Amino acid sequence: MASPGPIRSPGDSSTNPRGSVRRVIRALLAVSALVATATGSIAATAPPTTAPSAPDTVLRVTLLDVGQGDAVLLQAPEGQTALIDAGPGNVVSLLGELGVERIDLLVATHPHADHIGGMAGVIASFPVRFFMDNGDPHTTATYRGLIAALEARPDITYLEATPRTISLGSATLEVLPLLPRGAAGLNDRSVTLLVRFGSFTALLSGDSEVRQLNHLVGLTAVPALTLLKAPHHGSYNGFTRSFLEAARPRVVVISVGRNSYGHPHRVALEAYAATAGEILRTDLHGHVEVRGRDDGSFAVVRGDGVASVRGGGRATVAAGGGDGRRERTAVVATGAVSAAHLHTGLRITVQADAPGNDHRNPNGEYVVVENTDAAAAAIGGWRLCDLSNHCFRFPPGAVIAGEGRIVVHSGVGQSDGERYYMGRRRAVWNNNGDTATLYDAKGAAVVAFSY
Ligand SMILES: [Zn+2]
Repeated sequence: MASPGPIRSPGDSSTNPRGSVRRVIRALLAVSALVATATGSIAATAPPTTAPSAPDTVLRVTLLDVGQGDAVLLQAPEGQTALIDAGPGNVVSLLGELGVERIDLLVATHPHADHIGGMAGVIASFPVRFFMDNGDPHTTATYRGLIAALEARPDITYLEATPRTISLGSATLEVLPLLPRGAAGLNDRSVTLLVRFGSFTALLSGDSEVRQLNHLVGLTAVPALTLLKAPHHGSYNGFTRSFLEAARPRVVVISVGRNSYGHPHRVALEAYAATAGEILRTDLHGHVEVRGRDDGSFAVVRGDGVASVRGGGRATVAAGGGDGRRERTAVVATGAVSAAHLHTGLRITVQADAPGNDHRNPNGEYVVVENTDAAAAAIGGWRLCDLSNHCFRFPPGAVIAGEGRIVVHSGVGQSDGERYYMGRRRAVWNNNGDTATLYDAKGAAVVAFSY
């Protein structure tokens, strides 16, 4: 491996002076201006931050399962690393498990705690070359902690998120124009990065809402995307029709955990389902790594499959398909789900393809929930939902007998305590892939099954 070399940047000679928070911000802005008037580009020549056994040919975009918040790790084929947001809590050990040893570019999309909560820890724990934010200060202790961490690290070069292109190995990050400071709320000034690796494209835009998305569409700054990180955790105001018409993402990943905001919202899930071939959620699937190739193709790895991730409390159990045709895996959702709610004895399988026309025969498709424990499972008030949030609520007193099973048909019928009916006139489960999630009465995901 090559010895560490400097990043070539006009900002190299500038450092953050120590001093008050206010003085640091002023100084940071000055450094930013210096860099912005120069080439506007950073040639990252850092050595690989991971030690792959063979040369990597993919750009890895990993949406970390950090609960309700964002943390997105970019790993270039040559090893350069960028971290876009750092989640609400400590992500240091998680980054270590992913093989991260240094961070070439650290970005805070906006100063809300679910995006910068873990950032001071990252700055204190890893070599960081460049730090970028939108320059908006905030009043919280979390933000002050971030500034204090930056003050303690004058070796980190500050970049303001003005339009520029940054090279991360053979990938590029375009910083898209922001709405003017003071003219938009914190969410609508989220630093937005368009990632390109050959024909592979990804858009990361923090918690941008309708106003910022309209701004970007108005600038024709949104191209067709391979990957979209759902803006604002899949909120109802985190998408617009025109934005999705421009983006046409092939895969959407929603970074979300247990929350009281209604994230992700049903209308957003439906809008994403109408445009993307694949939707993944960190609350259901754990870490989601999208491996992009320069020909525009990609592969999705999730949960325990994400490189080098160990532990995390996630359990997987194998479940045979309801018809025996395919081996399927049920992912037991943990993350924000408390241990008390975790019921590893439950397994879900989906028979999505009904005989004949699915819409004419909704009872021909069904979900089987098996209880592999000897003890009965009480599921009264629990809900079974598809990816578009079509849900069935089990009646009070519903139970699955020990080592028993229940079947939930999509159509209309009379429940007998072992067979339930969602009461739909049309098919629910997408034959090309969907996710069945069982939520307990408090709304916590207990078990999810994707196919
Ligand atoms: Zn957020």
